[in-house]
Amino acid sequence: MPIISIANLSKTYASGFSALKGVSLSIERGEIFALLGPNGAGKSTLINIVCGIVTPSGGRVTVDGHDIAGDYRAARKAIGLVPQELTTDAFETVWNTVSFSRGLFGLKPDPGHIERVLRSLSLWDKRSSRLMTLSGGMKRRVLIAKALSHEPRVLFLDEPTAGVDVELRQDMWQLVRDLRGQGVTVILTTHYIEEAEEMADRIGVIRGGEIILVEEKAALMNQLGRKRLILQMQAPL
Ligand code: ADP
Ligand code: MG
Repeated sequence: MPIISIANLSKTYASGFSALKGVSLSIERGEIFALLGPNGAGKSTLINIVCGIVTPSGGRVTVDGHDIAGDYRAARKAIGLVPQELTTDAFETVWNTVSFSRGLFGLKPDPGHIERVLRSLSLWDKRSSRLMTLSGGMKRRVLIAKALSHEPRVLFLDEPTAGVDVELRQDMWQLVRDLRGQGVTVILTTHYIEEAEEMADRIGVIRGGEIILVEEKAALMNQLGRKRLILQMQAPL
């Protein structure tokens, strides 16, 4: 059974704009899936619906066997989300932010887990720093740590390396590989073909609110090559 099933999902915003037009997609356990598409394609809308943050206009989503609309609490436990927009509490320390986040799921404290997460993100030396004193890159690391605090089965990374320094990009790639080694499923969105190529097992291309193709990365690159993939992504709707 796939860990995520998305069936015929649509979203029309209050403005009347149709951001998703009947998207269906299955994500297998343990894979790294890249949702690749230009700005405005509907990537964040899709991720936010799958995570239960945005209500769809139609269709159905299950995460780890739980319907996201009908059984949100159970589905939410399986999900870690690093949103595109950075939001953190300025006054809190790194350690508290990440361990409180775990507490919100009703899990018992596990300092050893939190320490491993902070170390894997080069945040250990910053554990006592308040978030407002950190750089943008460091804040993003904290958001990733927060998303991993409750040991989710699926991690969503929305545009993880947009505007990020080279060091964090390398760390992110390593982290994603490590997570896969631990059996975590990773879904990331990106508008960088190189990023999808670097990290993904499978790539889905989305434009204009529709998924136009889903392929194993190697097959996609062999069939289309990078140039034609860029053309497909950018062709007028
Ligand atoms: P992406 O993440 O691929 O850049 P988004 O999912 O953020 O795309 O947005 C898809 C489209 O939906 C864009 O045209 C965007 O302007 C529109 N959109 C996103 N959020 C809203 C909203 N709250 N109200 C109206 N339109 C929106
Ligand atoms: Mg987006």
